[in-house]
Amino acid sequence: MAQITILPAGLRNKIAAGEVIERPASVAKELIENSIDAGSTDITIEVVRGGKGLIKVTDNGTGMDREDALLCFQPHATSKLRSEEDLFHLLTMGFRGEALPSIASVSRMKIVTGLKESPSGLSLAVEGGEVKEIRDFPARGTSVEVRDLFFNTPARKKFLKSDGTELFHIIDSVTREALSHEDISFMLLTGNQETMSLSRASSLRERITQIHGLDFVEGLTEILAESPGPRMTAFITKGENYRNSKTHQYIFINRRPVKDQIVSHAVYAAYEGILPQGKHPLFFLFIDMDPRDVDFNVHPAKREVRFANRDVLHRFVAGRIREAVRKERAGSLAPFAELPDYPGSGLPAGPGDPAMCPQPSSPYPPFGDPGRRMSETAGLPYHPVLPFLYLGDTFIAVAGKGGLTLLDHHAAHERVLYETFLRGMDPSCHHLLFPKQVTLSHKEYRIILENTDLLDEMGIEADDFGHNTLLIRSLPAALEKSDVRVILSDIAAALLEGVKPDKSLKETLAAKIACHASVRGEEILGREEFQKLLTDLEKTENPDQCPHGRPTRLFFSMDDLKKMFKRK
Ligand code: ADP
Ligand code: MG
Repeated sequence: MAQITILPAGLRNKIAAGEVIERPASVAKELIENSIDAGSTDITIEVVRGGKGLIKVTDNGTGMDREDALLCFQPHATSKLRSEEDLFHLLTMGFRGEALPSIASVSRMKIVTGLKESPSGLSLAVEGGEVKEIRDFPARGTSVEVRDLFFNTPARKKFLKSDGTELFHIIDSVTREALSHEDISFMLLTGNQETMSLSRASSLRERITQIHGLDFVEGLTEILAESPGPRMTAFITKGENYRNSKTHQYIFINRRPVKDQIVSHAVYAAYEGILPQGKHPLFFLFIDMDPRDVDFNVHPAKREVRFANRDVLHRFVAGRIREAVRKERAGSLAPFAELPDYPGSGLPAGPGDPAMCPQPSSPYPPFGDPGRRMSETAGLPYHPVLPFLYLGDTFIAVAGKGGLTLLDHHAAHERVLYETFLRGMDPSCHHLLFPKQVTLSHKEYRIILENTDLLDEMGIEADDFGHNTLLIRSLPAALEKSDVRVILSDIAAALLEGVKPDKSLKETLAAKIACHASVRGEEILGREEFQKLLTDLEKTENPDQCPHGRPTRLFFSMDDLKKMFKRK
């Protein structure tokens, strides 16, 4: 007996839906892209229970006539492709004719649509892919309502996360579409609350500002790059504005948000030798190219792309960003050649030899001055006046206790602060005389607000100030000089990522905050500060490891040294 059967259409659609519609955010993305393709200038998205209850997208686009409205949720029904040739010359966001039938097969859907120029219109109710009701209904533009997503596929529904998490994914989808279509206004309503409201912007910079705030945009450098092939408008990290995670990295190809290894790799290649370890640049890349040179038909949700000439693109992106980064750095670095000779350079010096101390008249503060930056001293011979020696800008060699200790001062400080934050309030935490206003992206703002109690335990008191803005009323003293927005953004990223199995949320956050608060690599500690660091480190539960598991110190006993020199 034959084993093979052709699957019924309903089941085929559900299988297809599995690829295109992963979660409520995928519905939002597909509906918004349809509205964009329909030439809309205003798009409103309404969401209930993280999209599980309702996702409704309303636009002022072309709308559909009766015939199209009845066809649009049929499989492979599209107005955007006519021939195979069109597939390689795409100018629209959609083309597969898959989204509406997929969504319709796993939800209760209502489409209300009418042509712009006509007073009539149509309302259509579809349940699990079956038309339930058709009525005349005056409308201009289109609204698609999707209720009870996955009501008939409980196995898929089980994979959905909490309402809050699903809402974050929706905010992400809306943000990506809004970033690449700055000329369209977007409104996101959750329940009846206005979560995001972006009026039409006249430039990409203005749109990024609407989403992330002015401070954020001031930390970015804009690059305009032309070539006979691809063109790019990019906003990248300005100066040292790096982050500890890859949030705020966006790639758009022909205004389509994508994830692409080649382009991301090109950005990191541009920062080779510059990017501090464990840091990530911010980037928003808007790349345009001939549609014939890029294939979007790779992933059902069109998240990935294939390039006809990936080497050219890699070279273009890496080259233009590297050029901009170098130019900016050249402008900000003081040329060492102009530094006058260090007094007494070249003389043999002994530890603790006061004769070797820079004289008061010296143009340089003595070594060990707090806050002194290594770059100012680079290239100058070291004259130890203290019983410890800096090697490079992070390592410290200390003689004593019957051997030699090598210490990573950044890692050691991180361990000390980590345990302070973990134990409760930093004793030196204080209320700010003038609370700091910090504007974040919508998603960051919401997740921080949901976790203010936890932040409070760490000594960060944040109040809601509305419009994606928080009012920071108190901070641990160790964070006073840090950029609060960067820290909060980093904490938000950690909260959104969720906890690792071996760490609690509090531990994860304490590690993040400690990393920001700890002495930066290039600061040189004075004798007293150094002594305090050693004592504090000794008091911690795990003085040998930083919160990320890297060693804080290595000890070589005299015996070890003898063995190393083969004297034993
Ligand atoms: P695709 O976008 O790939 O063509 P969809 O299933 O998303 O496939 O949509 C099917 C068709 O329905 C579209 O090609 C378009 O003609 C029509 N359509 C969908 N949404 C809208 C909308 N908001 N306004 C006007 N037409 C729409
Ligand atoms: Mg579509």
